[in-house]
Amino acid sequence: MDTRRGTPVSPGVAAGPVLLLDTEWFRISRRKLRTADVDAEIERFRTAMAAAATEARQEQQNIGKQLGRQYGAIFEAHAMLLEDPAMSGEIELQIRTDEYAAEYAVSRVIRRYAKAFQSVGSSMLAGRASDLFDLERRVIGCLLGDRREELKHLTAPVIVMAHDLTPSQAAQLDPSKVHAFVTEAGGRTSHTSILAAALEIPAVVGVGPFLEDVSGGDEAIVDGNHGLVILDPDDATRAQYESARKTYVSFERSLDELRDLPAETKDGVRITLLGNIEFPHEAAHAVAKGAEGIGLYRTEFLYLSRDSDPTEEEHYKAYCEVLSHLPAGVPLVVRTLDLGADKFNPRSEPVSEEQNPALGVRSVRLCLQNLPLFKTQLRAIFRAAVHGDIRILFPMITTMRELRRCKLLLKEVKEDLFEDGVPFAREVPIGTMVEVPAAAILAGPMAREVDYLSIGTNDLVQYTLAADRTNEHVAELYSAVDPAVLFLIQRVLDEGRKAGKKVNVCGEMSGEPFFAALLLGMGLRQFSVTPHSIPEVKRVIRSLTLTEAENIAREALLLETASEVMNYLRTQSRRLLPELEL
Ligand code: PEP
Ligand code: MG
Repeated sequence: MDTRRGTPVSPGVAAGPVLLLDTEWFRISRRKLRTADVDAEIERFRTAMAAAATEARQEQQNIGKQLGRQYGAIFEAHAMLLEDPAMSGEIELQIRTDEYAAEYAVSRVIRRYAKAFQSVGSSMLAGRASDLFDLERRVIGCLLGDRREELKHLTAPVIVMAHDLTPSQAAQLDPSKVHAFVTEAGGRTSHTSILAAALEIPAVVGVGPFLEDVSGGDEAIVDGNHGLVILDPDDATRAQYESARKTYVSFERSLDELRDLPAETKDGVRITLLGNIEFPHEAAHAVAKGAEGIGLYRTEFLYLSRDSDPTEEEHYKAYCEVLSHLPAGVPLVVRTLDLGADKFNPRSEPVSEEQNPALGVRSVRLCLQNLPLFKTQLRAIFRAAVHGDIRILFPMITTMRELRRCKLLLKEVKEDLFEDGVPFAREVPIGTMVEVPAAAILAGPMAREVDYLSIGTNDLVQYTLAADRTNEHVAELYSAVDPAVLFLIQRVLDEGRKAGKKVNVCGEMSGEPFFAALLLGMGLRQFSVTPHSIPEVKRVIRSLTLTEAENIAREALLLETASEVMNYLRTQSRRLLPELEL
């Protein structure tokens, strides 16, 4: 048994066989053979090794012709390893004595060799390890042939483990088959993590290198509440986790009782709780969890995993679909396209090759450089707004000039729609996200230009602390309760109040029950959170008076480091809600 620790990004507990995504793209199970089938399995293994060696020699020739002999020689070395009797002998022994299916035996032996290379600490030998992973992929590919079971077509539950997952890969995960996922890379608010929470798949990210210790088909437990990954659990641990899983499910059920109760403090201050969504159908789930509307619809997911940009009609249909899941009259905040940085599609590759994509042409900057793309979306929003309370939200606004350009464009789009004789809503509230320090500093003038502000703490933390939200190596720096971040949030709340405009927080911070009392005490009255967090946040709000929350905020804002704030909030949360395992 081997326990690894990472960042918990989506709660819940799951156990099952591992599917290693980055090497396999298909499933290897720890299948046992009948003794009578062992000889045939060894024959099947030898045939696959021979086929893999032939493939490698073919590659040697092709690459040699294209790039030169020295490059082709890499594949000659692969072929020689595949023909080397020492390694095949070991694999055959595992098939014969342990009666493992060939795929599993190959994965185990090759990974052991790779690990030995990696542990020597020489970069030359570490490079050999990636050659071995390549061999593993090739041999298993030959063994499985047409029987490859791809991620999209899984037939049995698995726990996906990968070095990293892109948001579009995560979006394809089917929660009925993928019971949890674990990645070596990634941070708390990367879009992949946000998707895991939206799909309600328990997930742990940023575990660091560990995949060479795992073979497809191994058993694992993922504890998305505490950020633990247990490889090869023993029976006692399995039993303990099965009971933890049941407790978690009944805890979730107990939260459902809060659904129809108002989000108000003990002294009757009413708070608005909205849901964040990435896909139209999630709106129904958000409502089921008690959302009073959608405070953030991340529309860029309409653009990911496809070959062409969505048409105006596709945008329009998506927005109408969200409205169809909402009770009449509740708000739907449609955030305009926020592509770039970690959310990109293959067609926008040149943009993603910038040296600093997070500081480059992402989000509203991309839209303002591609007006036809931007206008297509804006037209659809105005048209859909005929059918419900739709509001527009611009992401990543950094300067007043950008904000004014966006507003001007809205006027142009409305004129075009009028000329085209298409029905559209004339009065659509406009908001701007506060996600970069410049916008927080200019919150006063920004607030005067718009109908509402929405603080995107995921990016605000990243840009304030200069810590990439997707990079596990700076995860310690990346904290929503760093005093510098809290200073900016307080400023935006104060400036919004002075300008008489509503302020919302839609970053992951507002969904952390831990932070709810603090934000409330700082003056926040509207939270927009991942649907599954709504009941927990509501429970915190209902557990205290506004004065108590204000006292918590006052104390927290006097502290000088993120960990002091964190410890203080942890103590306060335990005091308020001992039953919540915060
Ligand atoms: C944010 O940055 O806090 C936010 C809500 O936007 P996203 O996570 O989509 O970047
Ligand atoms: Mg953002």
